Amino acid sequence: MISVFGSANMDLVAYVAQAPRTGETVTGRAFRTIPGGKGANQAIAAARAGGRVAFLGAVGDDGFGAEMRATLAGAGVDVRGLRQVSGSSGIAHIVVDDDGGNSIIVVPGANGTITGPSGDDLAAIAGSQALLLQLELPMEAVIGAAQAAQVSGAPVILTPAPARPLPEELLDAVTLIVPNEHEAAAITGASGAEEALDALLKRVPEAVITLGAAGALYGSRSGERLRVAAVPVKAVDTTAAGDTFVGALAVARGEGLAPAEALRFASAAAALSVQREGASTSMPDRAEIDAFLRG
Ligand code: ATP
Repeated sequence: MISVFGSANMDLVAYVAQAPRTGETVTGRAFRTIPGGKGANQAIAAARAGGRVAFLGAVGDDGFGAEMRATLAGAGVDVRGLRQVSGSSGIAHIVVDDDGGNSIIVVPGANGTITGPSGDDLAAIAGSQALLLQLELPMEAVIGAAQAAQVSGAPVILTPAPARPLPEELLDAVTLIVPNEHEAAAITGASGAEEALDALLKRVPEAVITLGAAGALYGSRSGERLRVAAVPVKAVDTTAAGDTFVGALAVARGEGLAPAEALRFASAAAALSVQREGASTSMPDRAEIDAFLRG
């Protein structure tokens, strides 16, 4: 079982020619509610990619919470560890303009009430083959979950997004860190990906830096270095490409694939997802990934 301890948000997306300035009212073109949050996205990506996945997190007692639960369960994710708290679910209020630019307000809601793993979370983590973490929950909760996995021997895969300073006590418990190139630069202060990889490997045993359409760079402290090209496809919407990549990577590693094959599997899943709109709506299932790799 892969456990994901993280955020569940409802994305409230308004499409408009130009985002309003303060005091201005504009008429939008369309509106969509899309289940998201990096934790929920990674859980759905891993389940679709063929993993047995449990999601540990919180939603509010509103309609968004019920929809998030149904979406996760519909993707085959075990939601027994998704608790309901009173108040609002986490939301991301997103304005997308015609130039493809966006502005986002995240209100953590129920996600912000998680101050650490509960007793049930600890039991789930102890029985897990791997733990996926991101940084959309309070830092003390992320650290608590990472340390619990470290005690039980489960590898911890951290997506350090949104980028923020990473305490040593968190990194000490991380096995594999997977930033994109901007996050890698923010964490290490390095200007290039190779340099950032070297800096990351001083702090964690393994690292993958995702480089969008340029692929991904992998390194381990044992000296292995790999560059994996992205699959050349026509990208329609790259939302959650990184989460799809990480979810699929966790499944491949759990099945014992060596780094090169695991990265190829993750790149295929991500390449399939960027060809479709949305976050969870764009993630491929196992049969699609296998067929894509055969093709
Ligand atoms: P997001 O924040 O949109 O979830 P990210 O910034 O975390 O994404 P990226 O580095 O953009 O992550 O992409 C993750 C992986 O997805 C890449 O390593 C690559 O394998 C795949 N990918 C992203 N963009 C493309 C693309 N245009 N074509 C093919 N594959 C892509």
